[in-house]
Amino acid sequence: MNGANLSIKDNFMVLYEDVNKLMGEEFPLENIKRYAGNDNLNATLLALNLSKYVNGVTNAHMEYSRILFPGYHLRGITNGVHPLKWTCEFFRELFDRHVPGWANEPELLVRVDEVSHEEIWNAHIKANKALIDYIAEKTGVGLNMNVLSLGFARRATAYKRATLIFSDLNRLKEVNYAGRLQLVFAGKAHPRDDAEKHGIKDIYSNMAGLRGEIEAVYLDNYDMEQAAKMVSGVDIWLNTPLPPMEASGTSGMKAAYNGVVNFSVLDGWWIEDCIEGVNGWAIGPSPTAPIGEDERRRIEIKDLYNKLEYLIVPKFYHDRDGWREIMKSSIAKTTYYFHSHRMMRRYASEAYL
Ligand SMILES: *Cc1c(COP(=O)(O)O)cnc(C)c1O
Repeated sequence: MNGANLSIKDNFMVLYEDVNKLMGEEFPLENIKRYAGNDNLNATLLALNLSKYVNGVTNAHMEYSRILFPGYHLRGITNGVHPLKWTCEFFRELFDRHVPGWANEPELLVRVDEVSHEEIWNAHIKANKALIDYIAEKTGVGLNMNVLSLGFARRATAYKRATLIFSDLNRLKEVNYAGRLQLVFAGKAHPRDDAEKHGIKDIYSNMAGLRGEIEAVYLDNYDMEQAAKMVSGVDIWLNTPLPPMEASGTSGMKAAYNGVVNFSVLDGWWIEDCIEGVNGWAIGPSPTAPIGEDERRRIEIKDLYNKLEYLIVPKFYHDRDGWREIMKSSIAKTTYYFHSHRMMRRYASEAYL
């Protein structure tokens, strides 16, 4: 078996002594080791060796997995989200009126061009108000409907780097002088993941460092209902994972169904979708750029603040039509492809049948 002697450190390792306790005599360890590696049971290897068809969940994931697991035939089926589930009631109503049939055939949403800027904005304002009301009720924090809001909600796990935007608080405050910002965070840590509980504390202390200048709120109990409110109610959906760790990322797709604009590190699905300045913005270089970790991080942080200050803030506050055009592009250039109907058709025709 190719790759069976790779020593990749991942989360899917199980000690053979535990395997032995569970499986007993019926499955001799030597047999399992042939498929799952010698040292520990590597569940990824086991799955690779026992599967007839293997795919990554984006092209980037496919390519990176090919490097990690050479010798396997790995293909790619890019993830998608369920259109009706992730489109808020205000955009559903708008799409129903202009693009009937959109929920079953989201390809039709390329025709969002025929919706006026005003109607797009009105639907967004309602979603924005719904989120702000929800936050006020839940936390007592009063966000401002006229201020650019950035949303960030993820499983709280290290590679998602929730605190990248806090890398330089003074620089963030400077951006806030150019045009006001407000931040909405959410995310739960695994109950046994102490490092990540610490990560959430880190976000809180950074938020405290902004007090009096940038309003920021952390919502607890992140779940799908809260995610739906967030991905529709903010202006910018921020994503700052450490490349190439983000296999796909789906919350940005959800945001686009609601005219929310993505501002994200080039990893996972965003590599396939981002057209710089047209449907959103990229943070940092491509994951395959030949640069070191520190240099990459430096460029990411620079991009994060500079693009916010010089591109996003001016567009939002001083070019209302330009902003609405980007919102429409976010819808048109994402929803037509990144939906679960296409994904399921591809699984059906390429993997399952
Ligand atoms: C969509 C969603 C996720 C996944 O979002 P990513 O961008 O892939 O991290 C996680 N949790 C909830 C509750 C979601 O709705």
